[in-house]
Amino acid sequence: TITVENIKKSFGDADILKSVSLDIKDQEFTVLLGPSGCGKSTLLRIIAGLESQDSGIIKIGDRVVSHLPPRERNVAMVFQNYAVFPHMTVFENIAFGLRMKKAPEKKIKENVERTAALMHIDHLLKRYSGQLSGGQRQRVAVARALAVEPDVLLMDEPLSNLDALLRLQMRAELKSVLEASKTTTVYVTHDQVEAMSLADRIAVMNSGRIDQYDVPDEIYSKPATEYVGSFIGNPP
Ligand code: ATP
Ligand code: MG
Repeated sequence: TITVENIKKSFGDADILKSVSLDIKDQEFTVLLGPSGCGKSTLLRIIAGLESQDSGIIKIGDRVVSHLPPRERNVAMVFQNYAVFPHMTVFENIAFGLRMKKAPEKKIKENVERTAALMHIDHLLKRYSGQLSGGQRQRVAVARALAVEPDVLLMDEPLSNLDALLRLQMRAELKSVLEASKTTTVYVTHDQVEAMSLADRIAVMNSGRIDQYDVPDEIYSKPATEYVGSFIGNPP
């Protein structure tokens, strides 16, 4: 479980997160859904340790991690711009996190090959990443995140740079890969359809608060607030 407890964050005099609490369940695919600027990325970055909270606590399992640096949290993050290093091969890109953790060479090879196969890029391992298509690069970014065997995978609009068809394909693939690997996942998007099709559970954010946190069916059929209803497309 990831426990988010009363997390507050301001930038200047703008209250971006207004006491957010959330229990993210193990092995579930949780989607943080909300419009641009509501604080999704900020919350994800605080869970990852890339941004500090003003107050509140983050726990992963029974460990309080709020004051630990990112590398001590055993989380992996995939960003929108997927930060794949163009001058490195696909193999070395996927191995990157494992090398940072000083994993033994045998383990690196095993994990890189396993996650590359999972993401259907095992035929590209020797290729320089600068020579890949956007979709292939996105697969490398996900494989790299999975290769470190994180307790938690955090993804911030990872498919937003892809064209519509590829986005649909990758969406379906991500869902099945992450279900099979049973990785606890928090996935940020502003796209309602993406949220509905991916999520075990959706947290709907509304300017720094979570209006509703429930399974997609309940969110759709019983929106907790007018805001949720209109954002999901099923106003009361
Ligand atoms: P989007 O869907 O556009 O990515 P978001 O929900 O991820 O939006 P955030 O990136 O969390 O939104 O930003 C929430 C608000 O906080 C925005 O108004 C943004 O301008 C502001 N903000 C985020 N980071 C900073 C920062 N480092 N300094 C100042 N303001 C910031
Ligand atoms: Mg964002």
